[in-house]
Amino acid sequence: MTEKTHFGFKEVDADKKSEHVGEVFHSVAEEYDLMNDAMSFGMHRLWKKILIELSELSEGSVVLDVASGTADIPKLINKKFKSISMHVTDINESMLTKGRDRAINENFFHNCSFALASGESLPYQDKIFDLVTVGFGLRNFTDKMKGLKEMKRVLKPNGVLLVLEFSKPTNSLFSKVYDWYSFNIIPKLGSLLVDDAQSYQYLAESIRMHPDQEALKGMILDSGFAECKFYNLVNGVVAIHQAK
Ligand code: SAM
Repeated sequence: MTEKTHFGFKEVDADKKSEHVGEVFHSVAEEYDLMNDAMSFGMHRLWKKILIELSELSEGSVVLDVASGTADIPKLINKKFKSISMHVTDINESMLTKGRDRAINENFFHNCSFALASGESLPYQDKIFDLVTVGFGLRNFTDKMKGLKEMKRVLKPNGVLLVLEFSKPTNSLFSKVYDWYSFNIIPKLGSLLVDDAQSYQYLAESIRMHPDQEALKGMILDSGFAECKFYNLVNGVVAIHQAK
């Protein structure tokens, strides 16, 4: 029997999930940054800055950004460090092209190399990166454990993994408001701003299907990392897991 997995609240054949995810990101690529600002009231910028603060980077480090999309994270790294070599990857050509264009237009292309690649099968040798980052990407993977093991494989022994992802609010009243906002406002914003309610309905659903803070920490440790801690942001709407 064909193995099944979830795509938002729907059950789909596991070998078809990346196609469905691909359709979502082809559809949203053009206006991805605008929608990110609108949905998060610009807060995703702050979350990404906090991620860089937790990176333990220094000049000369080698970084891999998985599921990089429009290259927001490499852009911020380049703002702070001028001699860091960044490998920028995404499974989706439309998103990666937006990232590459941004690197050219905003003058950090010289520190980057780009690869169209799945985070579940990284085209890199073992133990070559000081830092691996994945921002709002892991949620979309078909096999998250496979992705985490790949990230562990390509990290140097003392390397750092940072996972920035939507998570679970810790306050139950806040959680109700957040649910209302996610299912009533976010798809409408998608419809109004970019004429695409469906992709943003998927976003809200995929967040609910993603493991919470503790479960993700357990997965990270099971994938071979020796230590992992997480930081809740906005009452746990978002969490950053830092693993070594
Ligand atoms: N990292 C960027 C950010 O923080 O703004 C982009 C995040 S965007 C919500 C999610 C990205 O994950 C998309 O660009 C999508 O193509 C990518 N993605 C989804 N599944 C993936 C996979 N299995 N491997 C690599 N990238 C994937």
